[in-house]
Amino acid sequence: MSHNDIRLSFEFFPSKTPEGQAKLKTVREELSAFAPEFFSVTYGAGGSTRSNTKNAVLDIQASGQSAAPHLSFGGDSKEDVKALIQEYKDAGIKRLVALRGDMPSGMGGSSQLVYANQLVTFIREEFANDFELEVACYPEIHPEAKSYADDINYLKAKLDAGANSAITQYFYNPDAYFYFIDQCQRAGIDKPIYPGIMPIMNYKNLARFSKACGAEIPRWLAKRLEDFGDDTDSIKAFGIDLATDLCETLLENGAPGLHLYTMNQTEPSATIVKNLGLIPVEE
Ligand code: FAD
Repeated sequence: MSHNDIRLSFEFFPSKTPEGQAKLKTVREELSAFAPEFFSVTYGAGGSTRSNTKNAVLDIQASGQSAAPHLSFGGDSKEDVKALIQEYKDAGIKRLVALRGDMPSGMGGSSQLVYANQLVTFIREEFANDFELEVACYPEIHPEAKSYADDINYLKAKLDAGANSAITQYFYNPDAYFYFIDQCQRAGIDKPIYPGIMPIMNYKNLARFSKACGAEIPRWLAKRLEDFGDDTDSIKAFGIDLATDLCETLLENGAPGLHLYTMNQTEPSATIVKNLGLIPVEE
């Protein structure tokens, strides 16, 4: 397995502080050594991090790396969303991650969430094929989905609307991914589905976040992590080994690449990629 056969991408969240922004620049420079296809930057669903996302994305793109902004309507007007996408296009950005997002607390009410398939349709109508479009998917099924089959059908709707590929929510059970891929294929989905990998760095935060987003922490894993208590160094080391094994299993069984949720840190992602031997090869 060589680096050139698999697509590697790294995800950041935008920082609000100058220190965080400087750190992100360093992390991005360090992770650039692995020649990722792109760095994506998440988008706060309601205003607070929107300009931070744009600034982070434009910084990455200006550095010569490929940036992929995450994007959702989140209550904005079509004109505003179009203007933002145009700005991205003018900056040379070639890829977007199109999402519905969640309504931030305190908004709700009159605002209506725009489903990701509608955003994909909007981008294709307004910008034709100017962008590669990624969408999100959920091997353990989105928490609001009415059923397993329903969630797959809506993923198909996003891809049929013109998205090029999907990136998964994180998971720790590879069978959930393989079963999901099988079910997607049966539903007629033939576009690549890239596993999203979250190296474990902090159990308490992970447990809280997983509950909200519907990602399962298997019982054996929860028990193992509880044993480490507040020993964050041991959790980190364990998390790196676990993610390395997970990635190995995924790649050996046909996953087309990896999308690493970096949490704006170099070490876990860099060590996993090194462990996997995914060092860029000159062609
Ligand atoms: P959709 O695909 O629109 O689906 C949302 C729900 O509605 C699902 O339950 C689905 O089954 C159902 N559904 C879909 N389409 C329809 C339809 N047309 N009619 C009726 N029901 C439908 N959140 C952020 O706020 N910012 C980010 O940057 C961000 N990045 C992410 C990146 C990845 C790779 C992933 C996996 C998630 C990310 N999220 C992010 C979280 C995401 O915004 C939430 O999970 C959100 O609740 C759903 O977004 P979606 O694009 O998957 O929604």
